[in-house]
Amino acid sequence: MRICAAWWLVCAGAALAQAPYDPDVVRAQAGIERLRALVEAGAAPRADLERAQEVLADAQDAALLRRTLYGADLMTDQQAEDMVAATGRRLARRQKALEKAEELVKDGVVSQLSLGTYLDELDRARKENDLAISRARLAHELTEMAKAEEELQKHLEEAPQQATQVAERYDGSGVFTRADLLRVETAFESRFAKPLPVSAMGETAVHRALGFDHRDRVDVAVHPDQPEGVWLRQYLADQRIPYFAFRQAVPGKATGAHIHIGPMSARLAHGG
Ligand SMILES: [Zn+2]
Repeated sequence: MRICAAWWLVCAGAALAQAPYDPDVVRAQAGIERLRALVEAGAAPRADLERAQEVLADAQDAALLRRTLYGADLMTDQQAEDMVAATGRRLARRQKALEKAEELVKDGVVSQLSLGTYLDELDRARKENDLAISRARLAHELTEMAKAEEELQKHLEEAPQQATQVAERYDGSGVFTRADLLRVETAFESRFAKPLPVSAMGETAVHRALGFDHRDRVDVAVHPDQPEGVWLRQYLADQRIPYFAFRQAVPGKATGAHIHIGPMSARLAHGG
């Protein structure tokens, strides 16, 4: 992992591209080989082979989702896009299966009751698709926020006078404790009647992969200029709690904006 750390985008991509052994995929592949031989020998209808190919495609999508949507791995934007596409294909397959079953009900081949399973599966696939979309959005946002902090660190090390272009800095007492966080959370909640939208509590895999120590630091997913952000900066300054306010990771792009509470992260000694 240490070697991978600096190149996490590449490494994570390679790991996913390899598509590790998956029993469902292997089983579906074996089934296809057997069927193909039977179809070629005229011993099975071609429609069976097409159905088996659908099963294989679905098993491959499910395997991809186990590594992304339900896995703990870091995700690049490309992987997130693949994940959303896989859930979209699974949703389309369930939709098609339901339509076919409805045809059979209409023709009186099967009873209306048999549709229940198809409807349940469709509902599950729709939820999975929604989950993938929100997970992809979150993964993208977290990466953008961490990249903004990486950019700031680079400036602090190489061109400190330009660091103010990346983030607004308030040093306060230089200390941020657990008790401070509790105070901030309580005050925010009583002011806005909702919890403080913390996007990164302490160390995260994304920060670690980018090579810095985010322990005892907290990122809040608010734009510094929206009412919650304006209030938070004022509150932190009143309490002399250090913060960095990021307006955007890349100028012109409205992502990566957030408020980092606590001193700036230190670079990890060996990049991970
Ligand atoms: Zn931070």
